[in-house]
Amino acid sequence: MTAARLLEGAPFATDIRAKVASDVEAFTVAQGRPPGLAVVICGRSAPSMVYLERILKGAAAVGVKAEMVDVEGEDAAEMEVGLTRALRRLNADPAVNGIIVQMPLPPGVRLRAVVDAIDPLKDIDGIHPLNAGLVRLGFEGFVPATAHAALEMIHRSGVEVRGADAVVIGRSAVVGMPLAFLLTKEDATVTVCHSKTRDLAEVTRRADIVVVAAGQPGLVNGEMLKPGAVVIDVGINVLEGRIVGDVDFESARAVAGAITPVPGGVGPLTNALLLSHLVRAAQRQASEAMEVAET
Ligand code: NDP
Repeated sequence: MTAARLLEGAPFATDIRAKVASDVEAFTVAQGRPPGLAVVICGRSAPSMVYLERILKGAAAVGVKAEMVDVEGEDAAEMEVGLTRALRRLNADPAVNGIIVQMPLPPGVRLRAVVDAIDPLKDIDGIHPLNAGLVRLGFEGFVPATAHAALEMIHRSGVEVRGADAVVIGRSAVVGMPLAFLLTKEDATVTVCHSKTRDLAEVTRRADIVVVAAGQPGLVNGEMLKPGAVVIDVGINVLEGRIVGDVDFESARAVAGAITPVPGGVGPLTNALLLSHLVRAAQRQASEAMEVAET
């Protein structure tokens, strides 16, 4: 059996970044300032700091003005107040076009309070209920970058989404559910699986497209796949000091038609797409400001 085609994120990310860099340049010339990105963090946990620092570095490399906003507090209530205050300040700052909030939030800080506080027009990672609702209804809104990256990988795998049987493992608000809605919109027949799914292998074996976003190393292996299936591994796990996905790569690769590696698959594309969302937000805010100025 021939091994599956590798769906690497880096080449796609390079294309997206090149387009972002030229859009950033045009925006900067037109507006007299670069698009602004703010990354709000509360409590520095090592793995997410690595991820956020990568975003900041990537943003600076394409000419975006990126800042990290540190929120502190003695307890959860204080941190929540600090976060909502920081978000309100950033919402009101015209030089900030996109805002990302570090997730997960510290224990006790209410997610609802934080997501509600972000301006939906600056919510480039699609956490505000308005954006989630727009995506759910099939309208244009900011899609969480990871779900967007998984969809982009599926498109680039060459598989026909219309009519395909797709399985999404994981039902989170940032990955599983938005992706399931997006695939449904593109006419796939979608099954969403989660930790209470009775027979995962029975479901995945029927699928033309399998997306795994569970945070469980080795959850899906080759025996659970239909030959030729497209496998998108969103998982990021640290196992014995190495980063691995949710798919047992070697066994899956022998059966699948195309598969994303971890690291090097969905991850790089996620960061590049986040910057493309920022550019979209900045362009939209600039044109709305112009409309207001003209009236
Ligand atoms: P969550 O923990 O929010 O959700 C995990 C989902 O997987 C839940 O719906 C859970 O089910 C389901 N699940 C857990 N165990 C099993 C199992 N044994 N069988 C079937 N389903 C299971 O995680 P996220 O959605 O935030 O992230 C998912 C993965 O993606 C993580 O590994 C994360 O690190 C990674 N990630 C990768 C990014 C990237 O850029 N590549 C960015 C963001 C996340 P239930 O609802 O029943 O609990």
